[in-house]
Amino acid sequence: MNEGLARGDFQPSRASRRIRVLYRTRGFVLASSLMEPGHDPLSLADAPLTALLAEARAAAAHAYAPYSGFRVGAALRLASGEIVTGANVENASYGLTICAERAALVRAVATYGPALRIAAVAVANLNNAPSPPCGACRQMLAEFIDPGAPAAFPTAEGPKVVSFGELLPLAFQKAHS
Ligand SMILES: [Zn+2]
Repeated sequence: MNEGLARGDFQPSRASRRIRVLYRTRGFVLASSLMEPGHDPLSLADAPLTALLAEARAAAAHAYAPYSGFRVGAALRLASGEIVTGANVENASYGLTICAERAALVRAVATYGPALRIAAVAVANLNNAPSPPCGACRQMLAEFIDPGAPAAFPTAEGPKVVSFGELLPLAFQKAHS
């Protein structure tokens, strides 16, 4: 199955320029031509995000989804370079089900502590279905991720990459005084 990123998915924007800086500062190889018109973002964005999508897909194999059969995996690349994965875990009381993204997040915090920052998010499923992060997961992730960080997830047209800020503009934030 093609886990690559579709051509044209990544549109230049202020957020994407921020991503370029993030990648440089965190040691990823990402050519500056990613943001220039006429270049294929697939081959350039491929290395970090396609690898992360593969991790998410592998995690989906561990999903506990006896009720929906919808098996989802998520992979978080932390600013430290660590990758943490999660899978959805369903429950007979349907509302208690936890998504793969939140499963990965709580695992990451439990493993690396509350100061962690997320550099990139990838979501995949084994059902060949679109699965952008749900609203609850977006809000949970927002606590630990910068708006410019990339998020990759399956759409009807294939894997798509957007900045996290595009996924969740105007996230709820506690007012700090
Ligand atoms: Zn969710």
